Amino acid sequence: MTRIRFLGRPRLNMLLMLFLGLATAVAWLSVVYLPTPLVNRMMREDISREAENWRFRVLHTLEDGSLAFERGRLSEVDIAWLEEVTTLSDIYRFKLFTADGRVFWSSRASDIGTINDKPYFQSVVAQGEKYYKAEMKPMGEVDGHLHGAADHHLPGDMLCVAEIYTPVMRDGRFVGAIEFYTDVTAMGHTFTIRLRNIFIGLSGISLILLVLTTVVIRRAGRIQVAAMRERAEDEREMMQDQMRLTREVQLLGELNEWLQSSRSLDELFQMVGRFMTHILPHCEGSIYVYSNSRDVLVGATSWNGGHHCDHIRAEDCWGLRRGRTYSYGAAEVDFPCGHTETQDTRPAYCFPVLAHGETIGLLHLKARPKTNLLDFRASQKRAQMCAEQISLAIANVQMRDQLHDRSIRDPLTGLYNRRHLTETLRRHLDRAQREDRPLSLLSLDVDHFKRFNDNHGHDAGDMVLRAVGSALEQFCDGDETACRIGGEEFMLLLPDLRLEAAALRAEALRGAVERISVRYGEKNLPRITVSIGVAAHPDDGAMPQQLMKAADDALYDAKGRGRNQVAIAGEADPAKDDAPTLFAKVQQAEALDRAG
Ligand code: GH3
Ligand code: MG
Ligand code: MG
Repeated sequence: MTRIRFLGRPRLNMLLMLFLGLATAVAWLSVVYLPTPLVNRMMREDISREAENWRFRVLHTLEDGSLAFERGRLSEVDIAWLEEVTTLSDIYRFKLFTADGRVFWSSRASDIGTINDKPYFQSVVAQGEKYYKAEMKPMGEVDGHLHGAADHHLPGDMLCVAEIYTPVMRDGRFVGAIEFYTDVTAMGHTFTIRLRNIFIGLSGISLILLVLTTVVIRRAGRIQVAAMRERAEDEREMMQDQMRLTREVQLLGELNEWLQSSRSLDELFQMVGRFMTHILPHCEGSIYVYSNSRDVLVGATSWNGGHHCDHIRAEDCWGLRRGRTYSYGAAEVDFPCGHTETQDTRPAYCFPVLAHGETIGLLHLKARPKTNLLDFRASQKRAQMCAEQISLAIANVQMRDQLHDRSIRDPLTGLYNRRHLTETLRRHLDRAQREDRPLSLLSLDVDHFKRFNDNHGHDAGDMVLRAVGSALEQFCDGDETACRIGGEEFMLLLPDLRLEAAALRAEALRGAVERISVRYGEKNLPRITVSIGVAAHPDDGAMPQQLMKAADDALYDAKGRGRNQVAIAGEADPAKDDAPTLFAKVQQAEALDRAG
């Protein structure tokens, strides 16, 4: 790993290759230029060692040793032995000098008696140092050259000849010297060939190393490029994930904002469907909400190809039964929920939708056909967050609905209140005017209710008011609206009903109230009666207040006429007038109907 990292650094690679290239070049140049000086040096050391041996042998063999040099004389035995030396060794010439440079013995007799007056003799040899010299000489000048490499040479060939002066010391004084001549031609050749072979080997190794390094570096480069590509791919994927996450967080934020501003559950479910398609594209889904009675969950919405049943029961869902997210298809052994199709084995989630600690519904998600399982599993956390937001939003809308409902309902009877009636009446009047449709309003008041309260108590009075409210509610059909205006006064809005028909309904209502029997404790309370005033659009008014006042006026007429009866707005007292009123005509027609 370290090596690859090292080879992965371009500057170091360049330096390494440069070094190996230089080493190869130097090794090749050495093959050509280095051998000669090196060989000379090697030969010099070799000959020096040999000369040292010979000096040792000469000094030990001569009878007088170094004294012979001091005297410049040799015995017969010494001379005999010395003459053998050139035949027994590589030395082809051999001289002995006294301290002043006189040759007192030489293997070439003509040299004896000559004096070596060359400067090096006094400046080098006489100072106790060896003097070495090698030069090329024609073979003819090398006398006594009868052995060794001579056989391989022609008479005109040049030979490499080494001559070395070895000082002879006695008690630390220079007393003479020995000069050896030897033919080093063969030795030079041998050393040169050996050195050349070594340098050729070295340059070969450098070259191989260079080639190997180049190959390894190129390979490492390729590996590095592949690793970089892989890293770039990983980074690209990470960036895509990051962008997707940012988008999802943004969508979740937007979903939250939209859900907070939704005014009804219908609107909220529409928004959920739209957003879920984007936030969880791999899932089809549906939402169920508990009914008011909490016996079933009502299918609210579905998206991305999902479908929802009209109703499901809580016990059909493992998520609701266990009170936590149920992941179908994740465990080795699991069971499908009863609200899904049994033959559908796609993985699914059931998220109980909770708000304020209470389960208010269910979010069901299923992998869309051909969805990658990993993608589906990866969406669980997001789905959980959606479920939480949806839970809160549903709870908010439900709470808002409840508050609104409370603000328009009368708490004692559960009927709508005056405020709601005024708004509803205005809406219906607008429509009635626009579409030229009839509309009637009944004003209703319990007769002598103060007396009833005084006789039976306020609680009994409340029970009666509740019973009247319940009778009014049952009396209403479709768009008809019953309200408690205050105290023991009520109103009924009857859209699409003309005055005559409204009067008949009022009469029927009066009879129904008259028949109400309320049990209070151990006894039945006395029956109560109501007086009713009837008014209708457009004759009695086009504004809510006008119509309400007309109905109230009719009610007062009914009270004035003796209570427990119906009066029509603008009608005179039928008891005092001879001409048959509209109400009298209606009553007659009703009586005829009953008879016939
Ligand atoms: P009338 O036939 O002329 O309508 O006579 P009344 O006694 O019904 O009319 P009045 O307006 O004099 O009395 C209305 C009574 O209704 C007074 C009050 O005790 C009673 N009342 C008003 N609101 C309630 C209520 O919420 N509960 C009970 N138990 N009684 C109420
Ligand atoms: Mg009253
Ligand atoms: Mg009253």
